[in-house]
Amino acid sequence: MKHVLVVDDVQDNITLLTFDLEDDKFDVIPALDGQSCIDRARIKPTPDIILLDIHMPGIDGIKTLEMLKDDEDTKDIPVIMVSASDTESSIVQAIDLGAHDFVTKPIDYPVLAARMRSALRLSEALKALEHANIELNTLATTDSLTGTYNRRHFFTLSKKEASKKSRYNRHLSIMMIDIDFFKNVNDTYGHAAGDVALKCLIDTIHGARRNYDIVGRLGGEEFAICSPDANLDGANILAERIRSMCEKMPINFQEHNFSITVSIGITELRDNEDFDTALQRSDELLYKAKENGRNQIISGL
Ligand code: GH3
Ligand code: MG
Ligand code: MG
Repeated sequence: MKHVLVVDDVQDNITLLTFDLEDDKFDVIPALDGQSCIDRARIKPTPDIILLDIHMPGIDGIKTLEMLKDDEDTKDIPVIMVSASDTESSIVQAIDLGAHDFVTKPIDYPVLAARMRSALRLSEALKALEHANIELNTLATTDSLTGTYNRRHFFTLSKKEASKKSRYNRHLSIMMIDIDFFKNVNDTYGHAAGDVALKCLIDTIHGARRNYDIVGRLGGEEFAICSPDANLDGANILAERIRSMCEKMPINFQEHNFSITVSIGITELRDNEDFDTALQRSDELLYKAKENGRNQIISGL
């Protein structure tokens, strides 16, 4: 059922309209002035549409409309203005301010109903578009298996932080994390078990990191964390937390119980260095950790 907020300073006008609207299966919410309209429009469930009288004492319809459109919570609710005549200059003003449409008094209900249907169709299409945009954005920026940022988005966000570092002379640490002998996990327990291990690792990383650390999946079983404002010591603490949590974390998949270890390379972005070069260095340090026997952290400036 759609909720329609009917705003008019004359109770009889609301009552008359309510008969028709309720026959049309609308849930009518009455408001007798501009302020009550604004207050009610913010309450959930927010109205699906507003019928707003232009001439009202106090805050008139135009001012009310302006306030509705200024508020993040109410700006997308379609508004149909109700005016005394179709030659009113305030109609132009209302439509320029974002009103969807207008009707004139006395209200011809079938015309009003058609305009309401049109406004609701448009607002639903806009909502669907917004929803699709959010989904597309998620698809474009995250890795579907682990839900972390994908390689491209990790680089976009990290480079932004890297440029802030040079401007504000801050620290920025970068770490590369790679699962040890991950191929064996797949070969021994199956690819699906490997996928579960990847998700467990990312849960561990998310549990250990600070909110503003940027986590990305750079490739198969390779993850990176960009830590703004963290020096090497801080990054080492985070890395050690991840390393030790991983080693202790039981992974269960079907009848299999196993664990994984990770090797980590850490560095700090140097002054005037580009992000890619520093990431490359953390990758080299990661490979040293592998050569050194794995399940360990090697850091360097
Ligand atoms: P190392 O300790 O030297 O890193 O050895 P490794 O076996 O981990 O390294 P290698 O690069 O030889 O193998 C990586 C493996 O990761 C091979 C590949 O099948 C697996 N892998 C990559 N992406 C995924 C994935 O999404 N799911 C699963 N289950 N496995 C993956
Ligand atoms: Mg590996
Ligand atoms: Mg690898």
